[in-house]
Amino acid sequence: MKERLLGKTPEELKAIALEVGLPGFAGKQMAQWLYQKRVRSIDEMTNLSKQGREVLAQRYEVGMIQPVDVQTSKDGTRKYLFPVRCALKAGTAEEVFYVEAVMIPDHERKTLCVSSQAGCKMGCKFCMTGRQGFHGNLDTADILSQFFAIEEAADLTNAVFMGMGEPLDNWDKVKRVIDILTAPWGVAWSPKRVTLSTIGVLPKLKQYLQESKCHLAVSLHNPFPEEREEFMPVQKAWSITEVVRLIKQFDFTGQRRVSFEYTVFDTWNDTPRHADALLKLLRGMECRVNLIRFHSIPDFPYKSASAQTMEAFREQLEKGGVTATIRASRGEDIFAACGLLAGKHNVT
Ligand code: SF4
Repeated sequence: MKERLLGKTPEELKAIALEVGLPGFAGKQMAQWLYQKRVRSIDEMTNLSKQGREVLAQRYEVGMIQPVDVQTSKDGTRKYLFPVRCALKAGTAEEVFYVEAVMIPDHERKTLCVSSQAGCKMGCKFCMTGRQGFHGNLDTADILSQFFAIEEAADLTNAVFMGMGEPLDNWDKVKRVIDILTAPWGVAWSPKRVTLSTIGVLPKLKQYLQESKCHLAVSLHNPFPEEREEFMPVQKAWSITEVVRLIKQFDFTGQRRVSFEYTVFDTWNDTPRHADALLKLLRGMECRVNLIRFHSIPDFPYKSASAQTMEAFREQLEKGGVTATIRASRGEDIFAACGLLAGKHNVT
């Protein structure tokens, strides 16, 4: 199989250029073709010599994958389905799995919700992705393809690593994607346009906070450790108390923002006692809480809290000094909303 160029840095591309007999500066040219002009084949890199392109194409390919299906919601949200080749462990046979990327339009913004893994090993009980288990990590080219191969590629304004998978469980690849998105030689986005969402993989979270300037979103869902553990097995390994303690060591008073995602379930986490504990946990932080309505999934007995209860919860947080919003649900009719991504291959 050919090696993919998408996802490589200019230095790595320079080494490849020299290896195939192209001049060293062809590495920079290749980076421009890949990340600014977003070509899909080596043959389109027309400022490289024809012979150089031919030698390059013997061993390499651009490696951008194309979506095999797209569904459009009545609210304009679009869900793309991508086939990815994954192996559970290095050295084992690869299989094709399907992952989803969701484009969410909102006035002048177009945000892409990106997947970082096929399935997920974190096993959150309320999440359709977690239900399917883990199939493998996405490669850098697979993640970048979600940005470059969709119809709205040229108009995207923001990205959230909030799709299928836990991005910090595939941190090496996700970091590389973020570097390419924000590098001047890459897509040249400001880090303010990117948010990574995590359930709190503590060691990698520390790296993320140290190595990136992008925003952070944390799936919190319950301030009581013993209750959180019922729905989120990760709590056993890395407690939310430790996660919040770590985040408090970093500066979120400037341009960088931290938000906490809180899906509100009827009776499980929607009481004044929970709002009170949440306020105590977040005390002293410059942050926002996003309250999310739960979308029912099969064989899971909990329902969403009512609109009235969510509003009361929001008011209690606001009164306690924490900015809280009830997030509008998007793309529910095409199963693109939070927790519903399952990578179902329904192409006929
Ligand atoms: Fe994985 Fe996120 Fe789903 Fe939890 S909520 S199982 S971390 S994809």
